[in-house]
Amino acid sequence: MSFARKQLPDAHTATLGVVGHPVGHSLSPLLQNTLLRKLSLNACYHAFDVEPARFRDAIRGAASLGFLGLNVTVPHKQRAAELCDLLSDEARLLRAANTLVFRPDGSIFGANTDPFGFRRALQEFRPDLRDFNALVLGAGGAARSVVLALSQLGSRNVWIANRTRSRAQALVQELGPALGEATALHDLPLDSSNVQRAVDASQLVVNATSVGMAPDVDATPLPPGVRLNPAMAVVDLIYNPLETRFLREAKEAGCEIDNGLNMLIFQAVASLEIWFETEVNLEPNFLTELRTLLTGALSSE
Ligand code: NAP
Repeated sequence: MSFARKQLPDAHTATLGVVGHPVGHSLSPLLQNTLLRKLSLNACYHAFDVEPARFRDAIRGAASLGFLGLNVTVPHKQRAAELCDLLSDEARLLRAANTLVFRPDGSIFGANTDPFGFRRALQEFRPDLRDFNALVLGAGGAARSVVLALSQLGSRNVWIANRTRSRAQALVQELGPALGEATALHDLPLDSSNVQRAVDASQLVVNATSVGMAPDVDATPLPPGVRLNPAMAVVDLIYNPLETRFLREAKEAGCEIDNGLNMLIFQAVASLEIWFETEVNLEPNFLTELRTLLTGALSSE
């Protein structure tokens, strides 16, 4: 099929979108439609707010209507993986899919582009990181993607600290054996002394919790009194606000910081690559344009 773009949607325009609940603040339609236009692809990307009880019907309906594919976001990523006929290795390992492809034979393929998004963003931010140790705060879906990506990037030790420790323990038990011996995963209590020890042994700290996200911008995921080392790199997956309290304090401590915007962009690009079976290389100038566009959209909210 040809995806050469026309000026306006026509009978050949492919339908794409994101399904979430809520989805009203999603940046994905702006981001994906900008990418589609830049790449001259004849497709249109929409946002669909679907309650969990209607998710299965919505996916079946999208398949019946001949949608090319969908992104799936909170709270549907695990259910999406369950509905797929075939999963990518990463989606199977994470038991969550954020990218669905509706195939001509009626089957649904599911992939998870979050690990790729984080990997590419980290390579952009700190291409020099080798043989490193990392501390991940959080043990939800995003943390699992981050841990997988860190292992793929060659991290030696990853400490996982989460408010609900049993979730961190489950993450270690489920992902640990699949990652092989190169990366050792350790869960630890989210308290000042344990987290400080992990910080002191790490070159990278990642906030993969939702703590600090708007509107609770005064919250930080770090336990009280934990001091960051100025030589370390600090990433927050949150991009609203662009600079969380966690990132601001890390910057004040002398650390290099990065927010979640690049991960958002690169996971979106990876979804496009899957839907259109093509390789997309973002020129540095265009990446900067995308960041500016998204930053503008966030500040006008
Ligand atoms: P999730 O599965 O719901 O996990 C939420 C995590 O935050 C859990 O570890 C949870 O701990 C922790 N948490 C929530 N409230 C807390 C509190 N008051 N104190 C301590 N910990 C708390 O969500 P997710 O999908 O992993 O997303 C996590 C964050 O990553 C969100 O901010 C999301 O926007 C961001 N994200 C960004 C990107 C990107 O492209 N930049 C991609 C995916 C996600 P418990 O287990 O104890 O509840």
